[in-house]
Amino acid sequence: MAGIPVLMYHRVSPNRGRKAEKLRVSPEKFGWQMKYLFSRGYRTISASQLLDFCQGERALPKRRIIISFDDGYQDNFLYAFPILKKYEFRAIIFLVTDYIGSDSSWDEKGPEPLLNWAEIEEMRQAGMEFGSHSHAHRLLPSLPEEEIRLEVERSKSVLESKLGESVEFFSYPWGKLSEAVKETVKDCGYRGAFSTLPGKNGVGEDSFALRRILIRGYDTSFHFLLNLKLGRSRV
Ligand SMILES: [Zn+2]
Repeated sequence: MAGIPVLMYHRVSPNRGRKAEKLRVSPEKFGWQMKYLFSRGYRTISASQLLDFCQGERALPKRRIIISFDDGYQDNFLYAFPILKKYEFRAIIFLVTDYIGSDSSWDEKGPEPLLNWAEIEEMRQAGMEFGSHSHAHRLLPSLPEEEIRLEVERSKSVLESKLGESVEFFSYPWGKLSEAVKETVKDCGYRGAFSTLPGKNGVGEDSFALRRILIRGYDTSFHFLLNLKLGRSRV
């Protein structure tokens, strides 16, 4: 399947006796996946480069890819970042601004530590990109218009003032979007937004519903290759 794949990760941390979880990939698996991509000639691009491609403004060489992380877990810094650096890969991490330096208390499975500003800055200086995953990780389609706007707008301004650069990309909490949510994200000055819709991104793709391939903690190497090829996670 043609188009640019955007891989979607959440947590990257060791199993420590627990069994594999859907949204947590072990560092060993993540390391194997990055090594595989590198050895097959894949190179990472920025979200802006992807958008230029989708809007028909830029041709891209073969085997270009984006590695993305939702929620901004501290384990991204501890375990994923060293592996990404090893292959000179960059990634985009979508942060929940009201919880930076705290934990993911929105998650019903229990809170996990999130990145703090010092870790974010270190990663930014090493070339990692940051986007918004809203201010407080609420279910956006269920909110009134003015609250959607607050979630989307406030996170952008907090990130921009802390990072000192413009923040142009958004990822929808739980992948939940509606036309009203998309319109608000567009209206707040973002260039594009990532969904959890499966598939790869081709020319003409909806800039506010960019597609991603979920990489699950229990996916085997074979599943990873299949997901990459087909552009979706097989059930
Ligand atoms: Zn999330």
